[in-house]
Amino acid sequence: MPDGATPQADYLFPPAPVTSLPVSGSDARFPVRRIYCVGRNYAAHAVEMGHDPDKEPPFFFQKNPDSILLPGSDFPYPTKTSDVHFEMEHVIAIGTGGSDIAVGDALDHVFGYAAGLDMTRRDLQSQAKKAGRPWEVGKAFERSAPMSAIAPSSQIGHPDHGRIWLKVNGEVRQDGDLDQLIWKTPEIIAYLSGLFDLAPGDLIMSGTPAGVGSVQVGDRLEGTVEGIGSVSVAVV
Ligand code: MN
Repeated sequence: MPDGATPQADYLFPPAPVTSLPVSGSDARFPVRRIYCVGRNYAAHAVEMGHDPDKEPPFFFQKNPDSILLPGSDFPYPTKTSDVHFEMEHVIAIGTGGSDIAVGDALDHVFGYAAGLDMTRRDLQSQAKKAGRPWEVGKAFERSAPMSAIAPSSQIGHPDHGRIWLKVNGEVRQDGDLDQLIWKTPEIIAYLSGLFDLAPGDLIMSGTPAGVGSVQVGDRLEGTVEGIGSVSVAVV
């Protein structure tokens, strides 16, 4: 139990509800604890954002569990922005926690995988980058993480290749393959577990392929990670 958690406290108001995702082939749900995101984990996307992937290794930022947009929900165009971008991503769902996890043991900590979108207020993120400020206003806003159901690795294994792609209004805009990830799933888990204690319920969004772009109200986003799942979101 985390410090400060009390089993039968006299709370002043009801605690926030737990966000959970459906699990493919099961009635059980995956309760979400934290959401980590990897930046610039596909070389072509690093280049399109003006960076050199050989000189700048990937890095992490976070969204909040209640930033998740559940499957079947619409994405309301967010406030305080005029440049919202899609980033289609492969998502790792942690089932067994740990810290300082070895690369060779990392996949034993995975429950499954999902398809997700790292929706981004690019204008606010760009202002933050220029000012050397944190990225939360660009990344961690309400409903900024549309997700698919989670596909258990007991059913699909641990895909290390497969097409990852996104269509906007039927037109393919992002098209990559998991084999293009700079940091692979075991390396991401190993590195992240050296910085933070991973725990069951953690999600890791592993980065986006090239081709990111803006959305408009009325757009339909349809993203798929081959063999894992799909997200379909209307921008309203
Ligand atoms: Mn991203």
